[in-house]
Amino acid sequence: MAVGYIWGLPIAAKHIAMRLPPKVAEVTTEQARYLFTNMLDLKDSKLPVKRRQKISAKFQEIAVAMDPGNKHNYRLEFFAAPIPNAFALPDGLVCITDKLIEKAKNNREVYGVLAHEIVHVREQHGLRSVLQNSAVFLIWTLMTGDISTVAGMGSALPAMLAQTGYSRGFEQEADFGAADYMIKIGWGTKPLSNILQRMDPEQHFGDAEEALSSHPLTGNRVKTLEDYEKSKQQTH
Ligand SMILES: [Zn+2]
Repeated sequence: MAVGYIWGLPIAAKHIAMRLPPKVAEVTTEQARYLFTNMLDLKDSKLPVKRRQKISAKFQEIAVAMDPGNKHNYRLEFFAAPIPNAFALPDGLVCITDKLIEKAKNNREVYGVLAHEIVHVREQHGLRSVLQNSAVFLIWTLMTGDISTVAGMGSALPAMLAQTGYSRGFEQEADFGAADYMIKIGWGTKPLSNILQRMDPEQHFGDAEEALSSHPLTGNRVKTLEDYEKSKQQTH
């Protein structure tokens, strides 16, 4: 029983997260955006409008390529903030700070980070993390078969989202998903590895810094990305 419970929980969380009414993701995103704006001291971006437009257009192109089914309302918002940062919210809103863009040597590095965030949306890592970590709601939902229970968590979701870090498994899935895209279009994984290494001398890279983040050490991520790219080359 205990084993079934432990192994079954992430699967159940995925099952439910992928079937929630879009309204749940929308409301959660709206409230989480407000919460994060305060928590992370996000202000209006100072980046030139032309640069933002260019990055946004490419972001849309990448979202369509990476998530062809595309049920999400992918959009990108730019913020000025004290730290280089990017994070994804459940309905498709991806936020990026000017500081992160300034750290990039070229746009491909920015796009690598955005591709990583798109996987968090596509795979609904945020809501899945929250559900996995709130077993009581999850089990009740499974027992009653009524997903409106999760919708009923309502206002608790954004706060839980802010507290719940992504698991390393989810981070790796996001890195590999970004790698798949970048390898496919001929960029390789270097742009993502390079910005990861430049982002943070203390070897941490945060989606929303503390919030939404339990990233593996940068060194491990870079090595894992390299190994992943090599394994892909061998299969061709
Ligand atoms: Zn991430």
